[in-house]
Amino acid sequence: MSQIQSIIKTVVPKEVIMVLAMLQDEGFEAFLVGGCVRDLIIGTKPHDFDITTNATPEEIIALFPKTFYENSFGTVGVVTCGEENLPVCSDESVKIVEVTPYRLETTYSDNRHPDQVIWSKDITDDLKRRDLTINAIAYNPVTGEMVDPFNGVEDIKDKIIRTVGSGDVRFNEDALRLMRAIRLASQLDFDIHAVTRESIEKNAHLLNNISRERVRDEIVKLVMTDFPMRGFMIMEQVGLLQYVLPELERGIGIEQNQAHKYDVWEHNLRTVQHAADKKWPLHVRLSAIFHDISKPETRRFSKEKSDYTFYGHDVVGGRVTREIMERLKFPKEMIEKVSMFVRWHMFFSDTEQITLSAVRRLITNVGKENIWDLIDLRICDRIGTGRPKEEPYRLRMYESMVEQALQDPISLKMLKIDGKRIMEVTKEQAGPKIGYVLHALFDEVLEEPSKNTEEYLDKRAIELVKLSVDELKSLGEQGKKGMEEKNIEKIQEIKKQFKVK
Ligand code: ATP
Ligand code: MG
Repeated sequence: MSQIQSIIKTVVPKEVIMVLAMLQDEGFEAFLVGGCVRDLIIGTKPHDFDITTNATPEEIIALFPKTFYENSFGTVGVVTCGEENLPVCSDESVKIVEVTPYRLETTYSDNRHPDQVIWSKDITDDLKRRDLTINAIAYNPVTGEMVDPFNGVEDIKDKIIRTVGSGDVRFNEDALRLMRAIRLASQLDFDIHAVTRESIEKNAHLLNNISRERVRDEIVKLVMTDFPMRGFMIMEQVGLLQYVLPELERGIGIEQNQAHKYDVWEHNLRTVQHAADKKWPLHVRLSAIFHDISKPETRRFSKEKSDYTFYGHDVVGGRVTREIMERLKFPKEMIEKVSMFVRWHMFFSDTEQITLSAVRRLITNVGKENIWDLIDLRICDRIGTGRPKEEPYRLRMYESMVEQALQDPISLKMLKIDGKRIMEVTKEQAGPKIGYVLHALFDEVLEEPSKNTEEYLDKRAIELVKLSVDELKSLGEQGKKGMEEKNIEKIQEIKKQFKVK
């Protein structure tokens, strides 16, 4: 057993080994295959384990107590753990292990689906239909057997993306492979072999035959890799981007004003790259790539400033982002969120706008749950300019204002009693006295929060109304002052926390 093989063996979860062993014990061949073998050899954790076998779907189903079978590719989902009569899972990702018969694919007349799927008895047939050499390795961790007819292990070592067989043929069969090749190059930080790359260029137009949903899923995967900037650059260089996101390409060569080092295209890419460096979630990354999508059409030259302006690019950009995402059939909530971020991305760059009440209005517009993401987007945007980082003080100032705006002021509403209730329990008429009682009660609760119960406050209100108006008034004023002080204190605390004045 080679070194690679013994390393792999130790990291394959026992549930997966069990499925392989069950198949083998019945006399079938069974291998791990595809992305998991690739990731195991590279040394990263596979997110799922796929098994391929010479058993038919019926034979697989007969072997295991619980399975799912509801597709046309012959894939059987084997439930290995985490249910009645089954052991506890060692890892959630192996609860269901997919087992697929060796497949042989026939002709593809539509550039996306095989015309017919046939089961095979030969593992090499199954590896032959796979897209890239690095994805076409079969490995059995029980026996240590490895089947690698296209030298995938060597390509992994050399960090090379290469099609299994002729790129022209393989991309014609399924044009999504064009994007998969580039996405995996970004995901793994591999280079695309020159011959494969040439073939991608030649066949780029076939991407028009692919459903927008499949294209979208690949874009999402690309954006979520560690190197989205690299992926988009390759997409542009090989002529694929024009079939996917032509709007992004318009930024090429669009010079910006003095605040920027890069053209609009490179700025968008650097912004999303920073979002990836920070491991931000999908909606922040999509907002980053689209945030300046409408700078090309809003650019004007201002004589007074003797520089370019981009007025309204946020508003137009929000609309364009929506159109792009609708075309790519993104889910509605994602479209709403990302187009909203693009719409508001300028807020924290316009220092004149920033007053506490403006921040409050912004929070009303974007929602409390999104405001910190908007600041993260702002930081990515700033890094993407290639100019020095945001002055830390200013950034902390923004953060402190958001925190202040998010605070509910301390107010009479927090009391477990109100004016109406006081009149009920004291039989007192409406008038200034009721207000004094409220504030006096508030003062007590500020001193001693445990007193904030209906029971105590009702009883205390009855005692308080018996005092003279003057006495009550002074107690009430004390309460009012206490409230103001508490609110000021709270703001001071926030400012201290963010180290701003
Ligand atoms: P990841 O799961 O990391 O996104 P992957 O390579 O595992 O990458 P999957 O979509 O899970 O991608 O596919 C599993 C395997 O199926 C691949 O490794 C490859 O062997 C094969 N495969 C997937 N899509 C295609 C395709 N369009 N054409 C040919 N083979 C494919
Ligand atoms: Mg996979």
